[in-house]
Amino acid sequence: MRAEQAWGAFTLVFALGTIAVAAVLVSLGHDPYQIGAFAIIAIMVYLYVMYKRYHIELVTEGDIALFSDPDDLRILCEIYGLGGSGRAYIDRQRLKDFVRAHPERSFVWVAPRPVRSVGSALAIPSPEPEEELTVPRLVKKLLSDTPSESSMKGPLIGGARRSSERLAAMGECPVCESTLEKTRSVCPECGADLEFYSVLADSRLGRRLISEKTGARKRKLRYTAE
Ligand SMILES: [Zn+2]
Repeated sequence: MRAEQAWGAFTLVFALGTIAVAAVLVSLGHDPYQIGAFAIIAIMVYLYVMYKRYHIELVTEGDIALFSDPDDLRILCEIYGLGGSGRAYIDRQRLKDFVRAHPERSFVWVAPRPVRSVGSALAIPSPEPEEELTVPRLVKKLLSDTPSESSMKGPLIGGARRSSERLAAMGECPVCESTLEKTRSVCPECGADLEFYSVLADSRLGRRLISEKTGARKRKLRYTAE
């Protein structure tokens, strides 16, 4: 099920639920105008949060090639609801297929699992032919899939240029949050390419990826400490 459809169904459930609660409160003798205003505010807040959090940038094919950490690729797959395998070449391929399935789009809707399950519970099942990728076919696809010239924009996400000012202004590593004493291009603590992640952090998608990455790193550190 596509994220838009899942959100459509989920929003319908939310709106109907809000209306039902409002109707019950009014029938219990509460002021209908006040309850109506609250219901409208609740729906507006819901729509705002949904839009802010789940309408995110679609990474470009060229940018996919710039991610070298398999963890980043896995997190990206999970953000887009593709299911990360943790194996770089598979995740990279899933992302490429996803990008190609959304041509001319710079933003896409993503839906977390609970929203998807509400959506599919309400959906009328329609057979969606999904091509099963067998290993030989995958290998063939990988060999034929070289990113097009135009999609390779440069060394940083979105074709941003590297600049020493950006590095000089950085007080802490965007990934591990350790303080940077002097200007560096690579974090001495976690080895992250500081400019790459700093530019990435300018987008909703990037902030999500980095917060997942930071969380995963902290969990890993905790395990090794125990
Ligand atoms: Zn770091």
